[in-house]
Amino acid sequence: MTSFKSFKLNAEIEQALTSLRYYKPTPVQEKVIPLALAKQDIIVESQTGSGKTVAFGVPLCELAEWEENKPQALILVPTRELALQVKEDIMNIGRLKRIKVTAVFGKSSFKTQQSELKQKSHLVVGTLGRLLEHLREGTLVVDKIHHLVLDEADEMLNMGFIDQVQEVMD
Ligand code: AMP
Repeated sequence: MTSFKSFKLNAEIEQALTSLRYYKPTPVQEKVIPLALAKQDIIVESQTGSGKTVAFGVPLCELAEWEENKPQALILVPTRELALQVKEDIMNIGRLKRIKVTAVFGKSSFKTQQSELKQKSHLVVGTLGRLLEHLREGTLVVDKIHHLVLDEADEMLNMGFIDQVQEVMD
């Protein structure tokens, strides 16, 4: 039986997982975490509730350099609700490493998000429209972004967001 120990994670991440009572990886985590830590491009298909947020959250928190203030990973999500949920889940994983996660989404103050993005912000999770606005305004700095996650990509494509996804990627 695999435990999170086999991934040789930073002690702060491992300890955070234990405090969340995540004692062993789910099947999707067992497959995804080693590949993501090795920085491979991957496409994952898995059921809701299978632990996919932790599957990408753990490698992103592990690979984030705390000293770097600029965003190092971008997570695209289809809805505001998911943005907040993913932010919370990842903050819990990165809490002891003091990983900062910023969520950006529409119908919420642009200026507040802008000032959050100006501070230390290792990981950014957001919905497409607002992310594009921050990119156009230059309030989201991308030169240190090394990782891109399309969460619920099928949902984003079903909602007709393919052009916006492409634009963010470009
Ligand atoms: P998700 O598929 O990301 O929606 O996650 C489903 C639920 O499983 C969430 O409530 C997580 O907190 C929980 N979870 C994720 N990974 C684990 C794990 N390794 N052990 C126990 N619970 C987990």
